[in-house]
Amino acid sequence: MRFDIMTLFPALVENVLSESILGRAERAGLIEVHAYNIRDYSKDKHRRVDDTPYGGGKGMLMSPVPIYDCYLDVVSPEKNPSARRRVIYMSPQGSVFTQAKARELAENYDDLIFLCGHYEGVDQRIIDEIVDEELSIGDYVLTGGEIPACIIVDAVARLIPGVLADAECYEKESFTDENLLEYPQYTRPYDFRGRTVPEVLLSGHHANIEKWREEKALEKTRAVRPELYEKKMQELTLLDAQKKKKKTKRENP
Ligand code: SAM
Repeated sequence: MRFDIMTLFPALVENVLSESILGRAERAGLIEVHAYNIRDYSKDKHRRVDDTPYGGGKGMLMSPVPIYDCYLDVVSPEKNPSARRRVIYMSPQGSVFTQAKARELAENYDDLIFLCGHYEGVDQRIIDEIVDEELSIGDYVLTGGEIPACIIVDAVARLIPGVLADAECYEKESFTDENLLEYPQYTRPYDFRGRTVPEVLLSGHHANIEKWREEKALEKTRAVRPELYEKKMQELTLLDAQKKKKKTKRENP
């Protein structure tokens, strides 16, 4: 999978994405990350990319022109023959990024093109012209879209087969089931400052371990994300009702 990032700070995304698991994935040819400096596409003699907003107001806005020229370069057939591509503008006004969205992007596209804003953001016309979707990483405002874009690349890339050593790592974790967080986990030593590992995990009894993990996952979700817990409970009640209905049908055909 390919990630193309249009930014004023390419070194920022290159440094973040070349380390650790993603760096290894890129060296192994599982992902490609390309950062483009929008400033390289400015025709201004001082390489300016921003201007004051029409109608007044504080701050500077990124001009649509260098962004568009950068975009044309990114999607030029000789550089990038990908068919299934999606252009994403990182924005606090976008819909909030979730694990479900990460899965959707990993499964449906070969190339994600990110536009990272800075200053007061970008001219609306570039959004209207090239952007398929606006995504936010949360209801707060950052100085630029680079960190948000890196977050999305990370979340999507780890779902690509081969990027993580074991697919189970992402098949069973928080949000795999949309409304559930993961259970607590323990490793050696058995005793850490008087806190010991729950006995059930040492029992070797897989069914009991599974049951304990389900309970703990629900407990954790209820404690820290009560709104998810509510949804999960509704889901379980519905499932239970469906099971009962099926059983009654079987018994009284
Ligand atoms: N004036 C904009 C507004 O009020 O919606 C905020 C612009 S922000 C200071 C500059 C850039 O940072 C945005 O263009 C966007 O690319 C990025 N950014 C800031 N917060 C973000 C968030 N929560 N999610 C994604 N991108 C964000």
